Amino acid sequence: MSVGVVAVTGAAGGIGRAVVALFRERGARVVAVDVDGRGLDDLAGDDVATVAGDVSAEETNEAFTETALSRFGRLDAVVLNAGIGGAGPLESPGAVERFDRIWAVNVRGVALGVRAALPALRASGGGSVVVTSSISGLGGDPGTWAYNAAKAAVVNLVRGLALDHAAENVRINAIAPGGVSVGLNAAAAHPVLGPAILERIPQHRWSEAREQAEAIWFLSSPAASYITGVTLPVDGGLSANNGILL
Ligand code: NAD
Repeated sequence: MSVGVVAVTGAAGGIGRAVVALFRERGARVVAVDVDGRGLDDLAGDDVATVAGDVSAEETNEAFTETALSRFGRLDAVVLNAGIGGAGPLESPGAVERFDRIWAVNVRGVALGVRAALPALRASGGGSVVVTSSISGLGGDPGTWAYNAAKAAVVNLVRGLALDHAAENVRINAIAPGGVSVGLNAAAAHPVLGPAILERIPQHRWSEAREQAEAIWFLSSPAASYITGVTLPVDGGLSANNGILL
């Protein structure tokens, strides 16, 4: 079971690095994409090409597709994982601008990524897109309204695009990570919030980034050949919990 060539956005970050490492271990060749070009330096190699750029810009998405074709001759899978949070309170100065930026990266960036990749995925006879949504897209969290909105938007973006491209054998899915021990999980290090959230997670621990990468691998691979349009929570049971734990 393999994935030939995969493009991964947000590849310099916590989850993205784990995705690059796992796919590489399993024989995939990778195009690693991030706005933080220097963060990609240690990933580059014979089986990893790098693209520095902002996913909210069309050129970046076109560049990763072109790089996959020119370096590795094809594109089989795309992992649209780049994301940001941090709008702050709705009434705080600059909140609307920060909302626009969150939307541009987390939602527009995903639409542009799928759009750029589709011709190459079709040319491979079909392929897979996996988007990193969040448990914050399945419910609300205090203080993260803009992130909640953007991550919920991609859950339904994935459904709509999955329908439009199912007959072309292009599968489009998402994962919804719960709190991960690295990356965009400020709560993990918070002295009060951290333990309070851990208490609510049925498995009572944060996720390793590799556990997210495994779910992305599964959805990307032929093992998931009849799965499209879904968002898979990878959250230690958090989204299954009505708030009562024994
Ligand atoms: P991270 O901050 O370590 O990684 C995000 C990466 O995306 C960074 O390398 C950053 O440079 C890159 N990036 C940001 N804006 C970009 C842009 N405009 N263009 C290209 N690259 C850009 O965080 P992470 O936790 O690894 O986040 C990966 C994804 O997982 C995000 O979509 C995030 O929302 C989601 N997520 C994370 C958690 C968690 O607990 N860490 C939980 C749920 C969902």
